[in-house]
Amino acid sequence: MTGEFDHIVVGGGASGCVVAARLARDGEARVLLLEAGQSHRHPLLDMPPGIFKMINGSKFMRYHKTEPQAQLDGRRLEIAQGHVLGGGSSVNAQVYMRGRPDDYDEWDRILRTSNDGPGWGWKDVLVHFRRMEGNNRLSNDLHGIDGPLLVSDPGHIDQTSRWFVQAVQNMGEPFNPDFNGGTQRGVGFYQFMNRSGKRSSAAYAFVEPEKHNPRLTVRLGCEATEILFEGNRATGVAYTDAKGHRKQASCNGEVVLASGALITPKLLMLSGLGPAEHLAGHGIACRQDLPGVGENFIDHPEVPITAHLSGPYGYYKQGDGWRMLRNGLQFKLFASGPVTSAGVEAGAFINPDDPDAVPTVQAFCVPIVYVDRDRRDLVKDGYGMSITTVVVKPRSRGHVKLASADPKDMPLVSPNLLQHEDDMLEMIAGVRFFLQAMGKGPLASRIEKIALPATADYSDEALREHCKAFVKTNYHPAGTARMGADGDSMAVLDPRMRVRGVEGLRVCDMSAVPNINAGNTNAPAMMLGDRCADMIMGRI
Ligand SMILES: Cc1cc2nc3c(=O)[nH]c(=O)nc-3n(C[C@H](O)[C@H](O)[C@H](O)COP(=O)(O)OP(=O)(O)OC[C@H]3O[C@@H](n4cnc5c(N)ncnc54)[C@H](O)[C@@H]3O)c2cc1C
Repeated sequence: MTGEFDHIVVGGGASGCVVAARLARDGEARVLLLEAGQSHRHPLLDMPPGIFKMINGSKFMRYHKTEPQAQLDGRRLEIAQGHVLGGGSSVNAQVYMRGRPDDYDEWDRILRTSNDGPGWGWKDVLVHFRRMEGNNRLSNDLHGIDGPLLVSDPGHIDQTSRWFVQAVQNMGEPFNPDFNGGTQRGVGFYQFMNRSGKRSSAAYAFVEPEKHNPRLTVRLGCEATEILFEGNRATGVAYTDAKGHRKQASCNGEVVLASGALITPKLLMLSGLGPAEHLAGHGIACRQDLPGVGENFIDHPEVPITAHLSGPYGYYKQGDGWRMLRNGLQFKLFASGPVTSAGVEAGAFINPDDPDAVPTVQAFCVPIVYVDRDRRDLVKDGYGMSITTVVVKPRSRGHVKLASADPKDMPLVSPNLLQHEDDMLEMIAGVRFFLQAMGKGPLASRIEKIALPATADYSDEALREHCKAFVKTNYHPAGTARMGADGDSMAVLDPRMRVRGVEGLRVCDMSAVPNINAGNTNAPAMMLGDRCADMIMGRI
């Protein structure tokens, strides 16, 4: 028992900040939080529109390039991930979504067979969502108002977003005032993890309140390279500090990996925990053969359609010249105006094939022309809007593998977006629905020209080609070190998030989930952190 700390959390992202802060706040434990990135305190991160600058290239992001994707004619996509305290929660679009009850009831069915397994059903996870939430509009059995995570309506709504909401109602969909309420279906305005235009990241909401807590040590700029073991027990972490020096930290309790769904499997494999053959191929001694590490890579595929608008609507040029000064001043003086918006305010959940059935796709209305970096040269800028369609329960699965045994190398990532034919068919139906919505009600007269898809051929074949050419990540990698019941040979974790076959090691980030939730993943990642802390403290 010689460890400097009780627990070490590796990765200060959406989940890692929550688990570390709660362990230090509610327990007696001395906790070390190791984060590869730097501080979350930066105006670009605080201001919601900063997301567009970050997607285009920023020190607060790491940019993974996928392997060539055969199903997309060899395209290589980019997957940006937060590289800063707060992780994705410090750089994301702040949309507050949990998914729907059956997402978690499905996890419960998958994980329940384990005798001592904790429940993972909706009623089990709702407790955590509710107590973390500080909603300033909704207060009921589903929504909390006293939690540290500030949730609010958009600070600013562009007229284009309002027209989108009306156009989708003209398609027969109901207005939904709360996508996290009893039913997901419909069109409406999202809520955001934000208050008065300022981001409520995991760093702000959970770590900052503990900044004077002597039990929590946060080390920034520290990149973990390997988990250290004594016998079969994880007892520490090797890392490179901000000056490039190799260091180690040790603990008496547990090591919790929370480095995100692309890096957590890499760290497991570098530490000898993974598919034996793959490890052998890189000359890594296998400590525990876990064939599921790096498999089951799930992400939400997103396909944009774009249109040019007939007037100066939306956010084009709002960050330039005198408009930038005006908007900046309005934000500074009154905490209002376009700068309080992350560039997306409205959205929808629909099932184009069977409107009354459970939604198959989610949409985001973006009041600018918005496509991934690698497609930018295929679109023309100007006053415009985009509607992006996301398949919410994709069946496609990819993988994360080691490129080499050198911790400095990024892993090989392959999400296989739209590889499963049902994902492609749901995407085509969703894209066609929103193309039709562009011709409805208030949008019809404001749209000068639909720019993407580039031709007016909306046949299945033509839309399939459009989807292949423009699909991108919705930035929700998940599932790469998933929990599973006893006897599940591909389960990396037991239902208490403990790595199978070793002691003192858990995974607490989006890697751990058996399937992805229908909707954005930041709030679910925080929920995992809150539950993991309870598990470590023996409270569930
Ligand atoms: C551009 C973008 C937009 C998004 N928009 C939304 C949205 O609007 N709403 C929503 O709900 N979700 C959104 N998401 C997704 C959401 O942010 C993620 O699902 C969530 O952050 C995942 O949490 P995590 O804890 O699994 O990983 P992360 O939050 O990614 O945290 C992982 C952390 O580990 C650190 N790390 C990595 N390697 C190491 C290492 N070797 N040593 C130490 N630290 C390491 C990283 O720097 C990072 O801080 C978005 C994500 C992105 C990137």
